[in-house]
Amino acid sequence: MPWRTTNELYHIYLSEVMLQQTQVKTVLERYYFPFLKKFPTLKALGDANLDDVLKMWEGLGYYTRAKNLHKTAGLLTKQGQARGIAPTLPSNIDELIKLPGIGKNTAHAVAAFAYKKPVPIMEANVKRILCRLHTLKTPTDKELWNIAYDFVDKKNPFDYNQAMMDIGATVCTPKSPSCEVCPLSNICQGKDEPTLYPTKKKRLVPIRE
Ligand code: SF4
Repeated sequence: MPWRTTNELYHIYLSEVMLQQTQVKTVLERYYFPFLKKFPTLKALGDANLDDVLKMWEGLGYYTRAKNLHKTAGLLTKQGQARGIAPTLPSNIDELIKLPGIGKNTAHAVAAFAYKKPVPIMEANVKRILCRLHTLKTPTDKELWNIAYDFVDKKNPFDYNQAMMDIGATVCTPKSPSCEVCPLSNICQGKDEPTLYPTKKKRLVPIRE
């Protein structure tokens, strides 16, 4: 993925926001590159008109993402101007979380992928692997984060996080995990019945009266 072979903080941040609610294929084929062409830097985005930003986001949905992205770029641009430097993203997770539209997951992804910090990422694929490794059916977020922090490879966090995503996408898949070729099988407690973990949340169907 282009956002994994770059050191550009803004490119990585943009990809994380786009990928929050959208499939990789859609982001890659239709939105990521045109958006970067129109707004090539954090400053260009921060200085842009919101309507122009929304126009480039058209069809991607969840427009709050675009509004927050624009707001954050504007804030960072102003901060950069006050300090006489080009706008940049903070590397600290607590600082990242304070910015509009950046939650715990995105903050960790930016810290891990843009700053190569020794922190874990947390997304659906990673959650599934952690649940299966530890036979967890309905873990809390806190439990998962604790396990993820224990498990992350502190020396090679970037490779570790990328590997977890790749294993989740290609080996430890939701319906038919390939445990026989999985590099984690020797430590996986759930490999005998992996699809039991995690338990799927039942969709609550409202009853109309
Ligand atoms: S051994 Fe199987 S269940 Fe465990 S992490 Fe690997 S693919 Fe998933």
